[in-house]
Amino acid sequence: MGLRLYNTMGRSLQEFKPVQPGKAGFYGCGPTVYNFAHIGNLRAYVFDDVVARTLRYLGYEVTHVMNITDVGHLTGDDDSGEDKMVKSAAERNKSVLEVAKFYTDAFFADTDRLGIVRPTIVCKATEHVADMIELIKRIEANGYTYSAGGNLYFDVSKFPSYGELARLKLDELQSGTRVEVDENKRNPQDFVLWFTKSKFENQALVWDSPWGRGYPGWHIECSAMSMKYLGEEFDIHAGGIDHIPVHHTNEIAQSEAATGHHWVHYWLHNEFLVMGSGKMSKSSGGFITLKTLMDAGYDPLDYRYFLLGGHYRSQLQFSYEALDSARASRRSLVERVLALREKAPGNGAAEPTPVSSLAGVATARVAAFRAALEDDLSTPRALAELWGVLRDQGVPAADALGAAFDMDQVLGLGLAALRREVLAPVDEALAAEVEAQIATRAEAKKARDFQKADAIRDGLRERGIILEDKPDGTIWKMAPGEPVSGRRA
Ligand code: AMP
Ligand code: ZN
Repeated sequence: MGLRLYNTMGRSLQEFKPVQPGKAGFYGCGPTVYNFAHIGNLRAYVFDDVVARTLRYLGYEVTHVMNITDVGHLTGDDDSGEDKMVKSAAERNKSVLEVAKFYTDAFFADTDRLGIVRPTIVCKATEHVADMIELIKRIEANGYTYSAGGNLYFDVSKFPSYGELARLKLDELQSGTRVEVDENKRNPQDFVLWFTKSKFENQALVWDSPWGRGYPGWHIECSAMSMKYLGEEFDIHAGGIDHIPVHHTNEIAQSEAATGHHWVHYWLHNEFLVMGSGKMSKSSGGFITLKTLMDAGYDPLDYRYFLLGGHYRSQLQFSYEALDSARASRRSLVERVLALREKAPGNGAAEPTPVSSLAGVATARVAAFRAALEDDLSTPRALAELWGVLRDQGVPAADALGAAFDMDQVLGLGLAALRREVLAPVDEALAAEVEAQIATRAEAKKARDFQKADAIRDGLRERGIILEDKPDGTIWKMAPGEPVSGRRA
């Protein structure tokens, strides 16, 4: 059938035809590193991960580029408000670069925990200012800019298709209300390419440029870095839906003004994660981070599972009840895979069937899984196919496992780790300690000190270790969802 994606440009499902056969160039707008990512932001990055993994699964050689915004992003995307990085650094009494490093590290720690594959290229705005200056020079040479009040602006009236992505109508917008009006702008939609006259006296990072010492606007960084690594015409650009009306609209205008030709072929936008009545946002204060969830006892993969259960183009309502249900499902998934491991021939250690050797229902499920992803990345349907093959009693265990591990290349739920580690005791020190406690408990039982015996069992249970009394002794295992080790005592 082939991959079909919903392109925000044109608002339709379109067949994916890459610029270069067999390859896919993909840019996803990365974080502004002035604070922790909240779980809404993380929805965007799990989505990017699904895009990259799906493209690879379908056989494309993928270059996935992500920027790190460490300069130029104001609290309002339309050049209004304060500089996010400078504000955060001042509040924390740190330098901008210290803040950027801290939150960049925290960001990747989160994405690693969520099973997000690191992008092929991660690029920092502050390390690409020269590329931005070169691009702005081209935009200027082509006649799309004007200087006012010390800043260099992009003149949207010179770019006739301005606003096509967001279906904006300039005439209507001009009469619209704006929170903050920049007196220098000829049009409210004009945006800054280069700031010299900062409204912030304490702007920490500044560079020399043909327009004076200053710093770049936020939008130009994505244009400059994506083109540097993916070429001047590439396949896919992604971000959250809030980027449609301003950030991506401006990226398109300035990129095509510089090159004079079509820039990005497919625009993909994830809907919001919402909580209660509104979108979660970093600036609104009380936001939930991955750490909040982990402190409450959830595994980061519970959250990944929760996200995969919704289609990226639908709003997703976050609640702890919904997360509990995702956790329960993911735990049954792990349990099911472990049970199949035990069922597989060869003393429970059989290798899963390679996907090329699958037959019957398992093949059909893998084909349906692929079709679900090809149909605009339908992860809910893809998950249903995973469950379908795992639950089907008629599918041999080794085949069900083979299909599940194949599917997990896209789902990223850590099933591959179960494949490697389930039968091996990972932590020898833990094993020795648990076995010593089991021996103590057996003695307590012999002495009819059941209180002590139960206390030992409960203490281990709290640490995710389950004891099972069998006729020939006690065995122990890790509870589903815990890092898998465990073995017979
Ligand atoms: P920022 O760091 O604010 O630039 O945002 C990073 C990414 O998260 C962008 O792609 C945003 O569109 C996306 N985003 C922000 N809030 C949410 C939300 N509540 N749900 C889903 N995506 C979001
Ligand atoms: Zn961007």
